[in-house]
Amino acid sequence: MNSKKIGVLGGGQLGRMLVEAASRLNISVTILDSPVNSPAKQIQATSTHVHGDFKDPLKIQELAQNVDVLTIEIEHVDVEILEKLFSKKSVEIHPHPYTIRIIQDKFLQKTHLSQNEIPVVDFIDIPDKESLNIAIEKFSYPIMLKSKLLAYDGRGNYVINSEDEITDALKTLGNFKIPLYVERWTPFVKELAVMVIRSVDGVIKSYPVVETVHKENICHLVIVPAQVDGVILRCAKEIAEKAIQTLKGAGIFGVEMFLMKNGQIYINEIAPRPHNSGHYTIEACETSQYENHIRSILNMPIGSTSLKVPAAAMINVLGKSEDIHETLGPCVEALTTPGATIHLYGKKECRKGRKMGHITVVADSISQLYKRINPILNIDDENDT
Ligand code: ATP
Ligand code: MG
Ligand code: MG
Repeated sequence: MNSKKIGVLGGGQLGRMLVEAASRLNISVTILDSPVNSPAKQIQATSTHVHGDFKDPLKIQELAQNVDVLTIEIEHVDVEILEKLFSKKSVEIHPHPYTIRIIQDKFLQKTHLSQNEIPVVDFIDIPDKESLNIAIEKFSYPIMLKSKLLAYDGRGNYVINSEDEITDALKTLGNFKIPLYVERWTPFVKELAVMVIRSVDGVIKSYPVVETVHKENICHLVIVPAQVDGVILRCAKEIAEKAIQTLKGAGIFGVEMFLMKNGQIYINEIAPRPHNSGHYTIEACETSQYENHIRSILNMPIGSTSLKVPAAAMINVLGKSEDIHETLGPCVEALTTPGATIHLYGKKECRKGRKMGHITVVADSISQLYKRINPILNIDDENDT
């Protein structure tokens, strides 16, 4: 389909699902990640992968020498070397390093969005403890303290409810070793997300608006279409597309949003890569987020983003403990659930809260969907410790 070779920084589950989509189109993918237990490398035996850290500039250079297009499955990469490679034009890079730089720093990301008149919740830089006190005075408790860098699955967030918690919050987030900022606590009624695909020429298309439900800061359940009224759906789509228009480069983006009681929508954060809230697209849409990412970075026509079923859900299989059997309870249930597809990522070690796999369920209606997913969710709840 395309003779260009793709190199991916990161070889986790998102890389694995990119490899799956690429292999159907017979497109070559080379992965940069640690030598052991990379979910993406496990299923791509036809390429010689690069073993090393996706934050290591030398390893990124080595990958770049062996491929035509570089892309990422994680934003926490060394962006300086990407900028250098980009300016030398030695390899194509998607999304643009400018986009990765903005997004990998949550404070910079929020500043960029607000400068572009995209709604985000109020936020304040916290260079030291004194400025934290000023922020608390301004926002009052609770407040959300966040790491600017390296955050995922809520690690890097701390909700401060009272003065007694300040010391522990600062200690947990590394006492300013990683820079911090504060967001106003946002009592949303729902979290929404939209996957947006952008072509090399900057043309934008979005997937349906989904509803995401988090458990202890980690995405647990995705329902599509989001069960909100049409005005909200239109508004979420518009905001997500407008935000991606302000960025550069091709590829798929995940836009996380908060829906308030009065209908106001704020962007929480953007991921410049395939996203957990878009896993459902593999079974439920005409073209998956993974295939469209590959198509867009190779400058191929972007496929339809429409749903091909009336309703779908995605349930994350999160590690319950080190015991994989307990964790796989929902998957065993899903083996006999109509419309269910199980994805396991091949991670060697199971840990509490670790994303070990996911289950997608499709249905002919929202009520049929809930009938199908409820037994899976019940097993999942029973195994919570
Ligand atoms: P991800 O795994 O999505 O990258 P993350 O570590 O970057 O997560 P955030 O997306 O910032 O973390 O926050 C995780 C969750 O915490 C959100 O999905 C939301 O449920 C909650 N949250 C984040 N910011 C706020 C806020 N300002 N007010 C209330 N809740 C919030
Ligand atoms: Mg994040
Ligand atoms: Mg998030």
